[in-house]
Amino acid sequence: MILNKPYSLVEIKKLTPTVSSFVFRAQDGTAIDFTPGMFAMVTYRNASTGETIARAFSIANSPPSDHLEFVIALIHGRFTSKLETAKEGDVYTVSAPYGQFRFDIKSSGKFLFLAGGTGIAPFMSMLRYAKQLNADIDTSMIYSTKFANELIYKGELEDYAKAHKFKMEITVTRPQQGDGWTGLTGHVNADMIAKCTPDFKERVSYICGPPAFVKALKEALASLGVEEKDIKAEMWGE
Ligand SMILES: Cc1cc2nc3c(=O)[nH]c(=O)nc-3n(C[C@H](O)[C@H](O)[C@H](O)COP(=O)(O)OP(=O)(O)OC[C@H]3O[C@@H](n4cnc5c(N)ncnc54)[C@H](O)[C@@H]3O)c2cc1C
Repeated sequence: MILNKPYSLVEIKKLTPTVSSFVFRAQDGTAIDFTPGMFAMVTYRNASTGETIARAFSIANSPPSDHLEFVIALIHGRFTSKLETAKEGDVYTVSAPYGQFRFDIKSSGKFLFLAGGTGIAPFMSMLRYAKQLNADIDTSMIYSTKFANELIYKGELEDYAKAHKFKMEITVTRPQQGDGWTGLTGHVNADMIAKCTPDFKERVSYICGPPAFVKALKEALASLGVEEKDIKAEMWGE
């Protein structure tokens, strides 16, 4: 059963100029179980006005846990502007888990992850879970960001790649002069998928990012002959 419960904000970390991670811990200390890929509903309540705002956030840590980590783009919207001034100890109401974007670790040992921006969040949960289980999976990921300084969890992903069957390609869609970026550039497309992951047809594909990213990559996979049943997707933002 899903319950609304009070969670305390226990850690805030600035990951990039526009993205921070927020860790909430259940005040009653109980752990919740979820499948990596799922999301939580987080509700802010202004005690003086009674105003409430609820938003969905993908869970970035692995289950089961009494804490939930979220990777949030601070876009100055209704909810995220509250987070910009949030501090440790603040209490939010959280309910979880929700969603159909679920990492079916048993369905196949081979995966293709396509992440756009903060769409990396559910993949962090999946990879952390696989590491926790010491699962023998083979994952290929293409991670796309607008700017080179917006890469999230790069070090952790590189460490994961050293010890597991994990191949990661990063592409920057808006490289800037002087940003030091020497890797792939441009949007992920069918050609990039086929070059980076020639055995893509043997993999179950998971896509997470903004709607245009998810739409383009569903079409790209379809054009490569990947069947719909082998594609799972989650999207948000613009
Ligand atoms: C299943 C699910 C999982 C989600 N997981 C995450 C997550 O892990 N991390 C995360 O940061 N967000 C996530 N979101 C988006 C989140 O729920 C909010 O929509 C987002 O934080 C903006 O809320 P807001 O109230 O600040 O903006 P609002 O005041 O509601 O919106 C302001 C405007 O910004 C647009 N907008 C919303 N998101 C973005 C964005 N990322 N970039 C640019 N414009 C945007 C809106 O379309 C709107 O026009 C998820 C959404 C869903 C449905």
